[in-house]
Amino acid sequence: MFNASLKQLSALLAQKKLSSTELTQSYLDRVARLNPGLNAFLSVDAERSLAQARAADERIAAGKAQPLTGIPVAHKDIFCARGWLTTCGSKMLANFVSPYDAHVVEQLNAAGAVILGKTNMDEFAMGSSSETGFRGPVRNPWDRTRVAGGSSGGSAAAVAARIAPVAIGTDTGGSIRQPAALTGICGLKPTYGVVSRYGMIAFASSLDQGGPMGKSAEDLALLLNVMAGFDARDSTSLERPAEDYARLLDAPLTGDHAKPLSGLRIGVPREYFGEGLSGDVAAAVEATLAQFEKLGATRIAISLPNSGLSVPAYYVIAPAEASSNLSRFDGVRYGYRAAEYGDLADMYRKTRAQGFGAEVKRRILIGTYVLSHGYYDAYYLKAQKIRRRIAQDFAAAYKHCDLILGPTSPSVAFGLGAKVSDPVQMYLIDIYTVAANLAGLPAMSIPCGFGEGGMPVGLQLVGDYFAEARMLQAAHQFQLATDWHLRQPAGTE
Ligand code: GLN
Repeated sequence: MFNASLKQLSALLAQKKLSSTELTQSYLDRVARLNPGLNAFLSVDAERSLAQARAADERIAAGKAQPLTGIPVAHKDIFCARGWLTTCGSKMLANFVSPYDAHVVEQLNAAGAVILGKTNMDEFAMGSSSETGFRGPVRNPWDRTRVAGGSSGGSAAAVAARIAPVAIGTDTGGSIRQPAALTGICGLKPTYGVVSRYGMIAFASSLDQGGPMGKSAEDLALLLNVMAGFDARDSTSLERPAEDYARLLDAPLTGDHAKPLSGLRIGVPREYFGEGLSGDVAAAVEATLAQFEKLGATRIAISLPNSGLSVPAYYVIAPAEASSNLSRFDGVRYGYRAAEYGDLADMYRKTRAQGFGAEVKRRILIGTYVLSHGYYDAYYLKAQKIRRRIAQDFAAAYKHCDLILGPTSPSVAFGLGAKVSDPVQMYLIDIYTVAANLAGLPAMSIPCGFGEGGMPVGLQLVGDYFAEARMLQAAHQFQLATDWHLRQPAGTE
């Protein structure tokens, strides 16, 4: 059952072979057994989850079920959920119980899904290893001495260890795709504006996007169907007709079932296979490319000439926006407040000094610096110009190809503690992921093999705007022909 797809679970629920209460309880039991070794969940609330499960069972009995009714979903602790502790991995919000639901949470609740718990993450989603949260690091289910990636590492580890059937995460510069890659699962960052940011604690608003994480492309499509949609409370939410992201999954591009991807042009950027990419990852990605060709896709060499500038541009823009977004955590309205202080300014200072961790402070310092009067043109404005160039590179590439393929991360999961004290090394891990956020493009990661130490390798697909269904189709067809996505870490049976 713990390897079942959403479709299979939903069928078991519909046929009354299983109730949502039983399903939820068995996942809660797995969380209780396996979470202490993984630290993937920050909070579980069995009573709340089971109450939702009972309501789902009534709905199923009444014949009003939707595809996700009764399915437990793990929520990254960045999503506000009414009545749930919502900490964003920070001491600053250690006691914050959200009075309202994020749009995504509202949609999932309305679909009858069950909140299984809130998952661990890097503090305020700043990081690539899920080590900076105030409740300690997430451990990778494939090797507990290694990181699970970040910042949605808790959601990724939960799905990888089969202690949640699916999960939701957020991706500002790779935080859905990179942990998915490092734990051997799938994750998708939608086109900017497809998923509402309302109630998703803001990191860098022009880059943040929520998205689905799961074992297969098919599961991602079903989850995205519920997460996506217009919401007037997010001014950047896109108002467009609802789309069924699962509609192309089983449709071969041509009538030739032996070559279901015939006609698909896969762009392979030269810049994604250069210096910095480890050999094991390169080999797995190359082998997958050959598999895509076997399925009928055509390989097209392309160039994204400004790729090397994406990390520097991102690490100016994201901290700039973060420094503004995080100004709300001042000890006045909610969250942490220093116990002892003098005047108001001292209260702010002590609250923020004690409430934020080192990485968050570093970002606020960088952000305020690049936005300051004397440096704005040299850094912030320059980064915005590079951002435009990066988007133009993609636009030029999509004249020749339908999807862009490459590695998600330059290496497999690294050891806990290996990079956390070296921010530049940590930032460089984002080399292949941040460009999609800067350009607002949809991108996903799927497992495609194993590398050093038997650790999973992730393959990234980047699509043109609104190419989610096309990307999911390509990934699904690949997954029908291979079984990387079905591998489960030892010790999680
Ligand atoms: N690793 C990137 C950062 O630290 C991306 C984080 C994210 O996508 N939330 O900012």
